[in-house]
Amino acid sequence: MLFAVRKVNFSSVGSAARSSLIFSPTITSILKDPATRVTVLTGAGISAESGIPTFRGPEGYWTIGSNVYMPEDVATLAMFKQHPREVWEWYLYRLGVCLHARPNAGHHALAEMEKLLADRFTLITQNIDNLHIRAGNSLQRTFQIHGNIHFTRCSHACSAALQRLDRKLTLKRKQKQLTENDLRLLRCPYCDAWLRPHVLWFDECYDETHFRFESSIKIAAQTDLLIIVGTSGATALPNHVVSLARQYQSTIIDINPEENPFSASARSSPGGMFIKQASSGVLTALAECCRTLHAHIGTKGPSDQ
Ligand SMILES: [Zn+2]
Repeated sequence: MLFAVRKVNFSSVGSAARSSLIFSPTITSILKDPATRVTVLTGAGISAESGIPTFRGPEGYWTIGSNVYMPEDVATLAMFKQHPREVWEWYLYRLGVCLHARPNAGHHALAEMEKLLADRFTLITQNIDNLHIRAGNSLQRTFQIHGNIHFTRCSHACSAALQRLDRKLTLKRKQKQLTENDLRLLRCPYCDAWLRPHVLWFDECYDETHFRFESSIKIAAQTDLLIIVGTSGATALPNHVVSLARQYQSTIIDINPEENPFSASARSSPGGMFIKQASSGVLTALAECCRTLHAHIGTKGPSDQ
């Protein structure tokens, strides 16, 4: 088989990624076969390579009144109902961090993979920072299962419609208060209730309308190759996606600088691999592999297929 084992040439990628990496024959066969599906599941690790913290550590602690709250307390519907101003101040601080970050080589590699694989490709992301969309992945094939910090919706659900956050809102430094103008811009234009960030809070459930829950389950059960990037499975839906991929004997690649609960699943899957590295170099290599296979298929006549 011509592409059974492909050694990736890193000479054209950044120095940080220069090493040799061999994808298994199963992986190259799946990438080459136009009848297969490829799903990528991303988490905080890929955003960390763009300088965005998880906000689960001290960078996410928030003072409200005389109390200091942990991020898992602030990012809740219960806290929003009690302290909407302060929760918005926290999200506008986080939005500022996201806007200052840029998509990295891993994000761009995934955008290229989507262009090459088209309808065979789905991206399921836990990240709310919008970096995948900024890099060029489509909204149609990107399931943002925890929402997107750039969007808002009515907290009274008078409509399910999403609105992009008004650019006139003041981006916040840590613990800065909303202005009167900010307060006006954070009101629903239809019913005057508070707008809320379009994110899934810790005390809320996944749904299809806002978070593509059923679509993610369906894709996970159909995928031939699942690529897990920078996530260790702290939340329910990513765990479910990986467990479905295992159940249906999909090939799994786990890319993570640290051993994590998904590493063993990847190693034991057919032709699967745990790649203990940061994601940008590995994803660049995968995109290069797709590009080469795509070019090869494109140059072959029908009788060669
Ligand atoms: Zn409303």
